[in-house]
Amino acid sequence: MENACRICKRLVEGSECPVCKSKDLTKNWKGVVIIYDVNSEIAKKTGHDTPGKYALQVI
Ligand SMILES: [Zn+2]
Repeated sequence: MENACRICKRLVEGSECPVCKSKDLTKNWKGVVIIYDVNSEIAKKTGHDTPGKYALQVI
């Protein structure tokens, strides 16, 4: 199972978030949001500005 970055919620394979370079990752996350288009409603709603796979909720 992937880890989620606590800062941007991106799902990360490995020990460091490639976007914010944070090592503050957690396995305690729920749900998946996939952003293809950063101008889409879901991207605006979740505030993600980089395409990718994100946790819906980081606990
Ligand atoms: Zn991050």
